[in-house]
Amino acid sequence: MESTHIRNIVIVGGGTAGWMAASTLSKLLQNKYTIRLIESDAISTVGVGESTIPMIKLFNHVLDIDEDEFMRETMATFKLGIEFVDWGQIGDRYMHSFGRFGQDLWPVDFSQYWLKMHQAGRAPDIGRYSINQMAARGAKFMRATNEQPNSPLADIAYAFHIDAGLYARYLRRYSEAHGVIRTEGKVVDVIVRDGDGHVDALVMESGERIGGDLFIDCSGFRGLLIEQALKTGFEDWSHWLPCDRAYAVPCEPAKDSLPYTRASARPAGWQWRIGLQHRTGNGHVFCGKFMSDDEAAAILLANLDGKPLTDPKLLRFTAGKRKRTWNKNVIAVGLSSGFMEPLESTSIHLIQSTLARLITFFPDAGLHPADIDEFNRQCDFETERIRDFLILHYKATERTDTPFWDYCRTMDIPDTLRSKIDLFRTHGRIVRENMELFAEVGWLQVMHGQRIRPLSYHPLVDLLSEEKIQHHLDHVAAVISACVKIMPFHASFIAAHCAAPR
Ligand SMILES: Cc1cc2nc3c(=O)[nH]c(=O)nc-3n(C[C@H](O)[C@H](O)[C@H](O)COP(=O)(O)OP(=O)(O)OC[C@H]3O[C@@H](n4cnc5c(N)ncnc54)[C@H](O)[C@@H]3O)c2cc1C
Repeated sequence: MESTHIRNIVIVGGGTAGWMAASTLSKLLQNKYTIRLIESDAISTVGVGESTIPMIKLFNHVLDIDEDEFMRETMATFKLGIEFVDWGQIGDRYMHSFGRFGQDLWPVDFSQYWLKMHQAGRAPDIGRYSINQMAARGAKFMRATNEQPNSPLADIAYAFHIDAGLYARYLRRYSEAHGVIRTEGKVVDVIVRDGDGHVDALVMESGERIGGDLFIDCSGFRGLLIEQALKTGFEDWSHWLPCDRAYAVPCEPAKDSLPYTRASARPAGWQWRIGLQHRTGNGHVFCGKFMSDDEAAAILLANLDGKPLTDPKLLRFTAGKRKRTWNKNVIAVGLSSGFMEPLESTSIHLIQSTLARLITFFPDAGLHPADIDEFNRQCDFETERIRDFLILHYKATERTDTPFWDYCRTMDIPDTLRSKIDLFRTHGRIVRENMELFAEVGWLQVMHGQRIRPLSYHPLVDLLSEEKIQHHLDHVAAVISACVKIMPFHASFIAAHCAAPR
């Protein structure tokens, strides 16, 4: 390769982010670069991060990973969406499921026809028109199939629940097989060059000095390079996303095999439930200002579906993001780049999208500021829109039962979120701007599920007669029901295709 190319890439950290980075780069850079990953057995990984979104299928595809093998190796189950319990009001239950809703009707979006009929009391909840949601409710699952043209069975969209520890180990094997050099040991010092302020080398506890051209900081919350060495700065969003800690605990697997994550609101936060093949992952995300650690642990343990397998582990965090994801010759990936709570399972996706962006803006030795600025601008845009979506879950509540929910209901919100809500309130319109992660139907499900009601609907809906619309909605619902009936149960599908050996 020409001398303007960088040659040595050093990844610091062997958690989910580190091994996702190592596997992506080792696959896509085709052994033309030296890739080294440093991790310390003495510093544990965060050890959580088990719920994903459908984009992860693209990650597996790029890496040529066989999905059934991936499922077995990570003890995974399938995920069709997230069920939210007690968010708008205590007793409420709605689902944010993946995939499309209904069948298009000319000239406006399906959801607008539904909205008109729902407002008139003539259509049930929007979930009735989603194959994902109806399948999830029936604990059914299969992969999308195109065998019958125009069938909702072609629309099934899914992600996975995975064991985070097994996932990192699986990607480690993959990466090492693709040439990544792993170094075990603790980084005790980071040498920053005089002049340009770039990271020059890492000093290991053993005294070894490891140099590199490009450093990927996957060191977790501590941000060893991006923050401790380069002092990049952090944008704190905890006034909008006030939860700042979580207890996590696995328990015995439940008898039901639910193809969805459950997020149940609690007095000062919420609790997740993620069923895997060999256990159920649970966690209670809460705000330390409104609840003590002991109380939070007690609530978690009182709401498990099986016997806990360990003591609950406490994790602390601050919602926000690093001021620059890429600073000089360091790119922060994973928790070192910032964190937003796992309510919509977006952190692993952000690792993936940051890596995809790194490939798009892959540098030569010049590390040109224009490339880096655009990379950072895109990271910021994506992160800020996800942030808005998460804030929506807290803001759009009618709960008045605890000081925590009073705070959330009455807090100020970013202007970008305010205008989305205002737009929805008039005619139920939702606009997805270019690289926003969540699509219109995602916003619709959460806004409606949390009791934001539009005043009206798109006026062009009235171009079709109510009878025609009603007929269309009834037909879609009937076809979806018929499809769900022939789908296998989630547990049977796993047993037939991708059960891990016990
Ligand atoms: C409560 C909670 C729940 C979550 N749930 C989800 C979820 O459901 N879905 C989702 O997508 N994401 C979730 N996440 C986020 C997800 O866990 C992380 O994005 C993911 O695990 C990546 O972590 P990481 O690799 O960046 O950091 P870590 O796992 O913390 O790894 C850091 C690595 O750096 C190494 N290291 C650190 N310092 C040094 C040093 N000095 N020398 C050598 N090595 C060092 C460590 O050894 C370790 O290998 C959750 C996070 C939390 C806190």
